[in-house]
Amino acid sequence: MIGFELNETQQAFQEMARDFARNEIAPAAAEHDQEGKFPRDILVKAHAVGLMNNHVPENYGGLGLGTLDGCIISEEIAWGCTGIGTAMEANSLAEMPVIVAGNDEQKKKYLGRMIEEPLFAAYCVTEPGAGSDVAAARTTATKKGDAWEISGEKMWITNGGVANWYFVLAKTDSDARPGSAFTGFIVDADSPGITVGKKEWNMGQRASDTRSITFESVMVPDANRLGDVGYGFKIAMKAFDKTRPVVASAAVGLSRRAMEESIKYATERKTMGRPIAGHQAIAFMVADMAMAVESSRMLVWKAGYEIDQGRRNTFYASMAKATAADNAMKVATDAVQIHGGYGYSSEYPVEKLMRDAKVFQIYEGTSQIQRLIISKEIFQRG
Ligand SMILES: Cc1cc2nc3c(=O)[nH]c(=O)nc-3n(C[C@H](O)[C@H](O)[C@H](O)COP(=O)(O)OP(=O)(O)OC[C@H]3O[C@@H](n4cnc5c(N)ncnc54)[C@H](O)[C@@H]3O)c2cc1C
Repeated sequence: MIGFELNETQQAFQEMARDFARNEIAPAAAEHDQEGKFPRDILVKAHAVGLMNNHVPENYGGLGLGTLDGCIISEEIAWGCTGIGTAMEANSLAEMPVIVAGNDEQKKKYLGRMIEEPLFAAYCVTEPGAGSDVAAARTTATKKGDAWEISGEKMWITNGGVANWYFVLAKTDSDARPGSAFTGFIVDADSPGITVGKKEWNMGQRASDTRSITFESVMVPDANRLGDVGYGFKIAMKAFDKTRPVVASAAVGLSRRAMEESIKYATERKTMGRPIAGHQAIAFMVADMAMAVESSRMLVWKAGYEIDQGRRNTFYASMAKATAADNAMKVATDAVQIHGGYGYSSEYPVEKLMRDAKVFQIYEGTSQIQRLIISKEIFQRG
């Protein structure tokens, strides 16, 4: 049996997130974008109503929502502003390795505090010389008695300047193959030896805080090691299976917003004696937008559904991420086109949507890397 109906809980979360996006996020989006302001007040409110950290299991105080549930929320939040949405979602990305591989003590301590207080966390994998090529990462962790000494530099870290703790991937065996060379750690942000870089002034999603984090002989207790030594790479990738559908869903939310703005404008703006929606070239662009939104959402839901059933979803998660990201870029670009000269100015929201859309093709694995994963899944399955 196949069904596309959301259950009552999902409908309630969808409605709550939609209202929150409409009332709290969308009105503040332009200001946060123009000033590059971190949306702390909005995130505190989101935390209070249960729209953040909602994948945290119930026995650690969270709601224990599934990946599909998270996708439904993420689409709505992103409709309001993907910069603010990314700041919210970065917590889930950092928490996911702890959910996937943490022991009871680690979950109680690090996930529990995220529920009790509106705190932030960050996922530190990328480095100046290693993004797509995670195996080239050079941050090291060396065992010193009962602790690990971590040294290296991480780059492009979302929530970097506001995080209370980080998930850090570090090399623990320089001779091992990439799959067993790395180990994951939880690092408290106030540990001596950590330097947080300046906030990057990015093309889009400027409400989100992106920074470099430097670790100079930072001592981390062995109790903060996630899983076995050498399992870090697997943990980091497993986390992506659960977070990529949610990020892809945010790209759907952005596309939906760009489509809605385009429909509104195409109905109001007149040229040659009729609304521009009456010109087939414009109407067909909007039809393409509707196709992009619906088809991306179906792939996102499939990717979320698969992992919620306890099945490996890497194939679908990458397809959802690449499809939704590439579609968001096209839909937002076409939305600017439909708005003509006004689309190119900050007077209308589509200019921001176009800038915001681009990073979906870059972070959480570029669109090229998603195709690499999809093709490997196809050919290695035999
Ligand atoms: C705003 C923002 C927020 C981010 N947040 C985080 C975060 O919170 N935590 C974190 O760890 N990282 C984060 N990142 C980093 C992000 O995941 C990387 O930028 C991304 O993985 C790409 O890595 P790179 O920038 O080093 O590009 P590269 O890996 O150098 O890639 C450059 C180009 O080459 C292509 N390419 C590379 N290898 C291949 C290949 N084998 N085949 C085909 N094409 C290839 C890429 O697709 C890309 O087009 C963030 C990045 C941005 C911009």
